[in-house]
Amino acid sequence: MIPRVECPTCHRQVEWSAANPFRPFCSERCRLVDLGAWVSGARAIPDESPPELTHPEDDAAPSDR
Ligand SMILES: [Zn+2]
Repeated sequence: MIPRVECPTCHRQVEWSAANPFRPFCSERCRLVDLGAWVSGARAIPDESPPELTHPEDDAAPSDR
């Protein structure tokens, strides 16, 4: 049984198999459309935290324990 996924671009059911190099998209066209959406900023891309804010506890940790 071949698992199926939904193409993120056209929402068609796609067979998730090695025969489909564009999975989870149904075709190269949909893959490119999705990539284009990313590039144009149509999708929300989560901000990466600045390095100095990644471990705030390290900064605030008391050194006189
Ligand atoms: Zn598609």
